[in-house]
Amino acid sequence: QEHRVSQPSQFAVFGHPIAHSLSPRIHQGFAQQFGITLEYRTIDATPGDFADAVRAFFIAGGTGANVTLPHKGAASSLADERSEAATRAGTANVLTRLPDGRLVAHNTDGAGLVRDLTERHRVDLRGHDALLLGAGGAARAVAWSLLDAGVQTLTIVNRTPETADALADAIGEPARVHTRYWDDLANLGSYDLIVNATSAGVLGGGLKLPMSLVGARALCYDLAYGAAAIDFVAWAKAGGARYAWDGLGMLVEQAAEAFALWHGRHPDTEPVYQSLRAEG
Ligand code: NDP
Repeated sequence: QEHRVSQPSQFAVFGHPIAHSLSPRIHQGFAQQFGITLEYRTIDATPGDFADAVRAFFIAGGTGANVTLPHKGAASSLADERSEAATRAGTANVLTRLPDGRLVAHNTDGAGLVRDLTERHRVDLRGHDALLLGAGGAARAVAWSLLDAGVQTLTIVNRTPETADALADAIGEPARVHTRYWDDLANLGSYDLIVNATSAGVLGGGLKLPMSLVGARALCYDLAYGAAAIDFVAWAKAGGARYAWDGLGMLVEQAAEAFALWHGRHPDTEPVYQSLRAEG
């Protein structure tokens, strides 16, 4: 489902905090490729203000919005319609206004991860036994996408086990999707794809993960990026992972999916990715 918009294009990313968001730079970088003039703002809204701030933005002529922490659940709830990905995840990172004023929620996080893995890193996900750490909003978004992309089994482990069970139940594929307890991580054996979708790195708490999880030639991926991913990437490399990536590529790819929804054209993500990567 594609909803195209006409000029003038006003976009924003909503979050709290939001000042350091890379989204404006990413979207401006994409827009330049097509000679599109874009207004793209950051809007800091507290959870209590979020719904009113979104309505005000779209009433004032906004055409599309990105949504980040802590508003992804609220963004999905306040929309009038939801894409399949937003429905499955229960969260949205993109809001688009239809010509009649109704808001549509999308979630491009899962597609962003899969695109980063398969296009940028040339990974064939088919047949992998994957471990997903975390069962929050981002984990929900990526779980379905990993399964759609062909991972053979998905084991979900969350600090709060009920949330992992709820996600597995929602997916409803008991032959492929399993949950295990966080305390059992040392007994699970090894995986050839490990995706960290916890916010431990961002929150600064860190994860204590056993090396035994890292299979020979495993691929490891942290949805967090930059400093927040350093510990996980170091753990994966120490455990013998073939590759350990942070989530900067996913960030750029989820933005590209949003850009394509809004502008009907898929940008070349590589120059934007490389310029952000070059800055560390
Ligand atoms: P949520 O708050 O929805 O979920 C947080 C998850 O992390 C929960 O599963 C939580 O477990 C777990 N967690 C938090 N602290 C710890 C800890 N100390 N030990 C173990 N588990 C912990 O956040 P999101 O799902 O929205 O985001 C998760 C991560 O993904 C963040 O780092 C975010 O920046 C990143 N992200 C990156 C994107 C990208 O484009 N690269 C896109 C979206 C997200 P519990 O349920 O027990 O609380």
